[in-house]
Amino acid sequence: MKISIVVPMYNEEGIIHAFYERMENTKQLFLSKCGINAHEIEVIFVNDGSKDNTVNLLKHLCEDLPGYVLLNLSRNHGHQIAITAGIDIALGDAIAVIDGDLQDPPETIVDLYVTMLKGYDVVYAVRKKRDGESFFKLFTASLFYRVLRKLTNVDIPVDTGDFRIMSRRVVNVLKSMKERHRFIRGMISWIGFNQIGMEYERNERHSGETKYTLTKMIKFAVDGITSFSSIPLKLSSYIGIITAFLGFLYSLYIIILKLFMPDAHIELGWASLIICILLLGGTQLLALGMIGEYLGRIHDETKYRPLYVIEDIYRKELNE
Ligand code: UDP
Ligand code: MG
Repeated sequence: MKISIVVPMYNEEGIIHAFYERMENTKQLFLSKCGINAHEIEVIFVNDGSKDNTVNLLKHLCEDLPGYVLLNLSRNHGHQIAITAGIDIALGDAIAVIDGDLQDPPETIVDLYVTMLKGYDVVYAVRKKRDGESFFKLFTASLFYRVLRKLTNVDIPVDTGDFRIMSRRVVNVLKSMKERHRFIRGMISWIGFNQIGMEYERNERHSGETKYTLTKMIKFAVDGITSFSSIPLKLSSYIGIITAFLGFLYSLYIIILKLFMPDAHIELGWASLIICILLLGGTQLLALGMIGEYLGRIHDETKYRPLYVIEDIYRKELNE
């Protein structure tokens, strides 16, 4: 197998037919541009516990047509885990990951592959422009990538999703990284080798709505930061050092006033007290919360459960 293409699918019934057609286009392009035959390309759909008709549509497609595989997970495990499951069963020398909603044009995979042949291990697609996404999504995404960059010492590219192609040796390392809270684009940057970005235009969703709700986005962002940085933990000790130092100076001042200047008026009253209590209380809870985020992740890791559960796999039996 030369090329595997991993496609996570969660409630995408309205897209599957169009996606299949675009995939056939892509296979044609692979033949004309790189001389790679359709039977050397496998498309792995990962059904991530869809609640609509996605699984039946994919089942029919994969049972009827060679070169299409359906990996059916037992429930919704999340986008990053779905990708992981697909990559785990991929057989190709080069493995591409693409969203199933046609926001990332499948034909671009051919260009990614051609670039890879120039001697790269990872070619990731950088979003040059994004159609049909809300200002809020664009703003939060751009802010997140930039904050993440500041917080980590791994060089994670800006404005880049999971749309990319990787060599077998990168995938082998990735498969050995068993962490539960996965931020795959960062993990791949961490692996190293020769990586390069390639610009492309991100389109509007073909149909349906984004499956990344605000809560999923926040969870994903926190996963990204906690897996690649312990700066939030250190932040609380820095804040602690500063407040303790200021507190010490101020206490000294009050003691001196009280001892040597009995006439001085130091009853500052309710306002200053309540401000101190609220500010310090808030900071303390925030610091505790940060510790909690890391602790919870350690807890999850120590359970050592499998990352996902496979319900079944469908593919056309060629020797029938
Ligand atoms: N997806 C998934 N599991 C989830 C959420 C999303 O497999 O829990 C898939 C979804 O079907 C799509 C891809 O991940 O193919 C990206 O999701 P989406 O387009 O909703 O994210 P966005 O592009 O809005 O960031
Ligand atoms: Mg999308």
